[in-house]
Amino acid sequence: MATSLSDAIAAKRDDLIALTQDLIRIPTLNPPGQDYRLICEYLEKRLKSHGFDIELIRARGTPGDSQKYPRWNIIARREGTRAGDCVHFNSHTDVVEVGRGWTTDPFGAALIDGKIYGRGACDMKGGLAASIIAAEAFLETYDDFAGAIEISGTADEESGGYGGVAYLAEQGYFDPARVQHVIIPEPLNKDRICLGHRGGWWAEIETKGEIAHGSMPFLGDCAVRHMGAVLHSFEQNLFPAMAARTTDMPVVPEGARSSTMNINSIHGGQKENDPDFDGLPAHCVPDSCRITIDRRFLVEEPLDEVRGEVTGLLDGLRATRPDFDYELTELNAVLPSMTDREAPVVRTVAAAIEKVMGRAPEYVASPGTYDQKHIDRIGKLKNCIAYGPGVLELAHKPDEWIGVDDMIDGARVMGATLETLLLKT
Ligand SMILES: [Zn+2]
Repeated sequence: MATSLSDAIAAKRDDLIALTQDLIRIPTLNPPGQDYRLICEYLEKRLKSHGFDIELIRARGTPGDSQKYPRWNIIARREGTRAGDCVHFNSHTDVVEVGRGWTTDPFGAALIDGKIYGRGACDMKGGLAASIIAAEAFLETYDDFAGAIEISGTADEESGGYGGVAYLAEQGYFDPARVQHVIIPEPLNKDRICLGHRGGWWAEIETKGEIAHGSMPFLGDCAVRHMGAVLHSFEQNLFPAMAARTTDMPVVPEGARSSTMNINSIHGGQKENDPDFDGLPAHCVPDSCRITIDRRFLVEEPLDEVRGEVTGLLDGLRATRPDFDYELTELNAVLPSMTDREAPVVRTVAAAIEKVMGRAPEYVASPGTYDQKHIDRIGKLKNCIAYGPGVLELAHKPDEWIGVDDMIDGARVMGATLETLLLKT
């Protein structure tokens, strides 16, 4: 009798550790987006030896793609013995900058007390490694299965995913006719299912004024005072309205369960002095003031209303405040995504978590976006979640780590998911 898949995964502990360490030691920093080719070739070699068909795909012409920093992606596919669903594990291969405060080598991948340390350990090379071990153990345990298993390693998630999942989705790789279930092993903790994320709308608002001598401001028109009126209006009207909104999205942390807006930056008047110039400023009335807003919104809020709420307040000022004028430039917009709780991948992973961990999963949604947006909006594939080992709060921090036991448990859940979806007769 074949050993159970769960035992087969546990027996691969040393392999899992070595694989995770190898992945962390390839410093795929983004920006600039380096070593994508190297990590794709590493994954190609590994997965080829386990019977996967490999495609390496460069996202030519996407933001950041260049001769020096090409945006390479890998898709590995292993066909089953008969027709059925394809289960796809998608991990981003890029990691964010190291930052200060490390006590271990960020690309050394040291194993200390059952934790592997390094940039990208939890976000999300540990999740990638867990999905590979789950798939390989599944293939060794069962030689007859339906459908297909896919594993992808994609670029640029940390900078919007345009050279990674967005590009692949545009090329049809996430067409629901080709792929039926997608699991993104982001570090959401091994007993939580992430159903989706809020939307984001980024814009620059500029108020206009007229330059004049600072001793006679009445001869000009102060753009900073106009911006003060904008901020006052936001404080009086927009922030209370956003805070009062409720959502069905189980966003964590709790504070992100309503709409939010960050004022990302503000600048008005003359440019700041160069650091090597210590003279005094000239006396001028500022003729321009700009802010950048970062508005995160809920699945219940249409993007048009999100935009309209802000422009409505600005138009209101234009109608009531003398000499007020503004310009709004949209910088980017990402729609929210939330997979139905009854979707097949959600129900299957939930049952797998109960089986492996002996408790019901917690359902969450992410305050910020991740690659699910592209699979949903461009790929038109709704059966997608984030599920993976690792502590979310460690992502992007110094001394980021992933627990080996957590990776084993995560791989067991992924393995049990494959059993349910691919062993159907
Ligand atoms: Zn991530």
